[in-house]
This record gives sequence, structure tokens and C-alpha cells, in this order.
Amino acid sequence: MAETADLEKLRKKVRAKDRELVALIAERFEITSELGRRKAAEEMRVEDPEVERAVVKNALAAARELDLDPGMTESIMRSVIASSRIRQEGARNPTAAVRPNIAGSQFVPPPLEFRTAIPVSRKATASVRSSRKAISEILDGKDDRKIIIMGPCSVHDIGQAEEFAGRLQCLQKEVNDRFLLVMRAYIEKSRSGRGWTGFIGDPYMNGSGDIQHGITETRKFLKGLAESGIPSAVEFINPITALYIGDLVSWAAIGARSSGSQLHRDMASGLDMPVGFKNGPDGDVAIAVGAIQSAGESHHFLGADETGNLRAFRTLGNRHCHLVLRGGEKPNFDSRSVRKALKELATAGLPERLIVDCSHGNSGKVADGQMAAFEDVIKQISAGDSGIIGLMLESNLKSGKQRIPEDLAGFKASGLKRGISVTDECLGWDATEKLILKAYRKMK
Ligand code: PEP
Ligand code: MN
Repeated sequence: MAETADLEKLRKKVRAKDRELVALIAERFEITSELGRRKAAEEMRVEDPEVERAVVKNALAAARELDLDPGMTESIMRSVIASSRIRQEGARNPTAAVRPNIAGSQFVPPPLEFRTAIPVSRKATASVRSSRKAISEILDGKDDRKIIIMGPCSVHDIGQAEEFAGRLQCLQKEVNDRFLLVMRAYIEKSRSGRGWTGFIGDPYMNGSGDIQHGITETRKFLKGLAESGIPSAVEFINPITALYIGDLVSWAAIGARSSGSQLHRDMASGLDMPVGFKNGPDGDVAIAVGAIQSAGESHHFLGADETGNLRAFRTLGNRHCHLVLRGGEKPNFDSRSVRKALKELATAGLPERLIVDCSHGNSGKVADGQMAAFEDVIKQISAGDSGIIGLMLESNLKSGKQRIPEDLAGFKASGLKRGISVTDECLGWDATEKLILKAYRKMK
């Protein structure tokens, strides 16, 4: 009890200090507002980089004397400076800071805060590292197993995804000397038209867009997978999402609609895990080949860091980018298309390795189409086509898909059928397991 009282006393002190801190900032704003009025009277610009540099330098010197974290000090000072600039500018032109197309926004803590709220255990870190290494070794031809990336088109219910992961883990034990199974844990979705864009952005599937809850639940889910030793695969769509969950991901896709995007190539060049670039939705392989070349090199770009601040980054380039054939207007899993794609990679000076996604344009978007593609690709592998280093399947507890409205306002996810995809059609677990075991026997 005494301990609790002590803690409460300390917390009270902290709150009093916080009020003093805010009062100090307000006092500072009073002075900078007066400065702003004088600048306006003399028609001077609000911005003055030299003065701002001196302000930051002064604060950093104080931080050094007080043994305070210079990074934090600088970000607080820069945020105070930016705010006071906006106030000065706003006094002259009240509409300057308005963004008319933004209906509202909510504070979301920066990535680092989630890393302490849902800390990555040593076990999870070691597991992610070893999964990335295992995938990289298959890509580099040091391990002759094949990667099978499998799981729902989109995760909409964490409990069901965990059940799938549990089954995947049991199956892994049976096929370990031939296949490395990776769980599709896709929580962002890129859509051709309207529709739900994934768990992380709208976890309740009702249009409320509770991203903070989405991030929290996704991190817990991915951490659980990692702690169980299950490698995870996601598609990164918003580069900021990668900051929130990237530390827990073993393999990442850049989707068919993003392979040509500079933003995604920049991001991939700085990611720590192997990244698969899909061919374009129309079947264009060159766009993905260009992306692999690009992301393999160093990039510089504007982005956010884990503390939520913007920075100019320079990356090292990602050596483990590779092609994923997902079909287009027609399938491209057949041996002719595969050979053609491998040749395109070789011509571009890239390693001849690729993954075949048996779904999407390779399945005609129907589950049975995935089986036909998978069996054909296994046949090619058995015939000695070593450029194919993996396959992808869209698979769920049960087969098929169920429709959800495009506009989710008022939708109740509790009415959904269990274990069935809400985006692309998936193979059911039983068919998936049979397919993989049959392939395993064929490859023994
Ligand atoms: C997916 O993997 O579900 C997906 C949307 O893939 P693609 O980018 O190939 O359409
Ligand atoms: Mn899909």
C-alpha cells in the first residue's frame, strides 16, 4: 500500500511539472507571437532558418549540460518552432494552415510507443531473424527447399488466422525437409475498386477506421506468430505501416498495383526482410524486374522515423528482392512463361529466381484454379526447374469467399461465416493440406 501511495505522490509531481512545462511553452508562444507581429509590421518573412538553427543549437547545448537525450530535445524544439511559425503565419493569413479535404484526424502514437506497449520478446526477435535467414538462404540457393507462402487473402479475424497458423505449424513438421511454410498475414489490402482495405485500417470492419486498435491487434498477432516460430508474410502498402509492424515480419510483398511505384521501391530498398515484387495486374513482368533492380540499390527519400518525425533517409539497397509471378490478363505459371520471366531477370543482370503465386491472375480467381497452377508448378520443379524457389496459395480454414458491402458503415462482422475469406476466393484447409502433402511425396 505504502508503495502505491509513493508512486501516486510521484505521479502527482510529474503532472504538476507537465503543467509547468505547458505554461512555459505558452509563455514562449507569447513572446514569439509578439515577434510575429513585429515581423508582419515590417513585412518580414516568418521563416528564418538561421535563427531557427541557433534556437536548436541553444537548446541542444542546454540538453548536453543537463544530460538530456539530444534527439528528443531536438524533436521537441522543432515541433515548438513549427507550431510557432504556423501561428505567426496564421495571424497574417488565417486560411494558410487549412486542409479542406481532411474531415478529421486522431492522434496515433508513433511506432516506438507500440514497441514498448507490445514489446518484442527476445524469442520473437530471434525467430524473425531466423525466418528471414531461412527464406534468404532458399533465395540464394544455399537451401534447396521451396518456400510456400500460404494463408488467407486477407486477415479479418485474428482468432481464425491464429487457428490457421496452428495448422500450418503442424504441417511444417511433416514437410520440413522439402518446404518452408510461411503464413500469409495480410492486414493491408490494395483493391482494384472500392471496398475494405484491410484489418489494420479498419479492424472492426464497420468503416470506423480505428487504426490504433488495428496496429495493436496486428502487433500482438505477429508477435504470437514469431514466438511460435512461424514465419509471416505481409503486403506493405502504406510505408508508415512498415514502421509499426516491420520488425515482426519475415517476408514482404509489393503488390501488383504497387510494383511500379517509386514510394514502394524506395521503401523496399531499406527493408530488412526479403521482398517479392509482383508483376503488374495486366501481366507486365518488366515492371517488377525494374523494381527489383531499383530496390537493390541505395535510395534517398523523404520518410518518417520510429519517433514519428520526418527525415531524409539513405538506404543500402535490398539484396533479397525477387519476382512473384501472379498472372495478369492470362496466367503466367506455365513453364514457358516461367522460362521467359527467368530470362528477363538474367538479361537485367538479376539472379534467376522467382515465386509463383497460384492465385489471382493464375487461378482465374477461383480456388480450383489454384490447385491446377500449384500442381503444374510442382511438376516443373520436379523436372528440375531450379529458378522456381517458391509458391503462394490463398488458403483459409474453409474454401470460397463471402461478400461484404463496399460501404461498411453499420456492418456487423459478427454475422460473417467462420473461416471464409472476405476478399479473394481461398482454398479450404483440407484441400490445401492434401495438395501440399501430395507435392511433398512427389518431391521426396
Ligand atoms: C493479394 O496477394 O491478395 C493481392 C492483392 O495480390 P496482387 O497484388 O497480386 O493482386
Ligand atoms: Mn488476394
